[in-house]
Amino acid sequence: MNFKNCAPIDFTIPDNLIKFAEILSQVNQLIESGVTVRPIVNGQKISCQNIYNRLDCNYKNQIISKVHFADLELVKSTIQDLLNYFPTWKKTKLEERANILRRTASLMQANQMELSALIIRESGKNWYEADRDVVEAIDFCNYYAELAVESLQSFPTQILPGENNTYHYEPLGLSVVISPWNFPLAIPCGMLVASLVAGNVAILKPAEQSSLIAQKLVEILLQAGLPKEAIAFLPGAGEELGPLLLESKDVNLICFTGSLAVGQKILSACSEIKPEQTFIKRSILELGGKNAIIVDEDADLDEAIKGILYSAFAYSGQKCSACSRVIVVGSAYQALMERLIPATKDLLIGPSYQSEIFVGPVIDEEAQARLLQIIERDKKIHSLKFESLVPSQGTFVPITIFECLDTNSELWQQEIFGPILAIKNVKNLAEAIALANDTKFGLTAGLFSRSPSSIQKVSEEIRVGNFYINRACTGAVVGRQPFGGFKLSGIGSKAGGPDYLKQFVVPKVISENTMRRGFSPD
Ligand code: NAD
Repeated sequence: MNFKNCAPIDFTIPDNLIKFAEILSQVNQLIESGVTVRPIVNGQKISCQNIYNRLDCNYKNQIISKVHFADLELVKSTIQDLLNYFPTWKKTKLEERANILRRTASLMQANQMELSALIIRESGKNWYEADRDVVEAIDFCNYYAELAVESLQSFPTQILPGENNTYHYEPLGLSVVISPWNFPLAIPCGMLVASLVAGNVAILKPAEQSSLIAQKLVEILLQAGLPKEAIAFLPGAGEELGPLLLESKDVNLICFTGSLAVGQKILSACSEIKPEQTFIKRSILELGGKNAIIVDEDADLDEAIKGILYSAFAYSGQKCSACSRVIVVGSAYQALMERLIPATKDLLIGPSYQSEIFVGPVIDEEAQARLLQIIERDKKIHSLKFESLVPSQGTFVPITIFECLDTNSELWQQEIFGPILAIKNVKNLAEAIALANDTKFGLTAGLFSRSPSSIQKVSEEIRVGNFYINRACTGAVVGRQPFGGFKLSGIGSKAGGPDYLKQFVVPKVISENTMRRGFSPD
């Protein structure tokens, strides 16, 4: 496949630092002058009555954008408009659809710094994390463009005289893409362009908190030549807009990344068939994780500490792949803790737009309140080993480390999605594997070990979709580490991997008897 990963911005180059700071300040000015996000249907921005203020997570009082939420009437008319265009988009040549993705990638690459700056301001990612988000979005466009041309072509099944048999891939129809806020560009972009390149028409319903960057994504797709009739952007509250979209008889595919709780609602909606419905709804679900890193007795602790800190606390632990449990074998525990706690103290917490910051705020006040409550609750159940100080202005949550005293507790079993880490000492590797697997989720896991037999044993026995050895358990790269889990972490094949696009199509076989007895005039 002719695919190359996009390079991240090298912030060690002084020119890049200066240029990025300039662009960040331009984005700040834009936000200060007032930014509005509106639904986009048929290429037109539409004003609505219900307006949500997205607040700055670095300084609670500033409004980042005013988001117009789509209403019921708009949803209904949008669905009809997209259905009307589906036959045309379906017939558009695969190569032409793939070219739109390639142009989208080029436009994003040309605006890599501006897109990163928007993510920093809207979602509170630090410089590095925001840039990685943009890079991943670019990679998804380029990867799926090549994959579509490679894997969605029609082909003959068996060759025999007198009969032609061909295998075709048809798009499903109207798809709805529902995305989370934690990879505010990469995830909606990946799901959306996959659906479009496969020939589906699509509605994007972004997470409320990250509607601005999602609007930018749709604008770029239109600029890249995507027909305006093939896509609609409908921001809105998940609990209100979600059910309208999920329950529509005309939606054939729901492509979702988010929490298990919402994933369950989508599965229920897919299991219902309405009297007037003509297609069984398909869903692709990428859900939560409760990811463990195992530190073996002979692990290189310098590497382990680096990997744990990045996996647990980058973007304040708000990644589905984030490490939230560390399981340490035998005597390594004491030595690890003696070094992990001082290393954690050195992590810089502060506003995400400052270049040196490692841990920024959490996404909003609701998340902050929930996480602070968890910390107080768990101080009574587990042994607190570290709690950092935090700035007072934004939605910050202290970096917190507990020694886990109860593996049936919520701290050990539930996805927390914040900078809170639980650590447990076990006697041997077998116990560590059993404990790592003792969760309903199966997304990522990591192992630090210098023993080939331990590495082999854990690789064979760990029940996760992405397993990382002697490195962080986050940061999958498109094409290199196709990403996605099993158990209750999701259904569907891996994003950024060779099977992904087949989920967006339905196969059709055409068999023709070619021994015609004469031709009819046209
Ligand atoms: P969420 O489930 O709260 O929201 C995700 C999306 O669903 C949002 O757009 C939201 O508005 C919408 N939504 C909410 N209620 C809905 C409803 N009733 N019907 C339809 N849509 C509804 O998740 P979040 O807080 O945005 O993101 C965090 C979650 O996402 C975590 O659980 C994380 O693990 C998961 N996640 C998983 C992956 C993965 O690849 N497996 C990647 C990123 C995030």
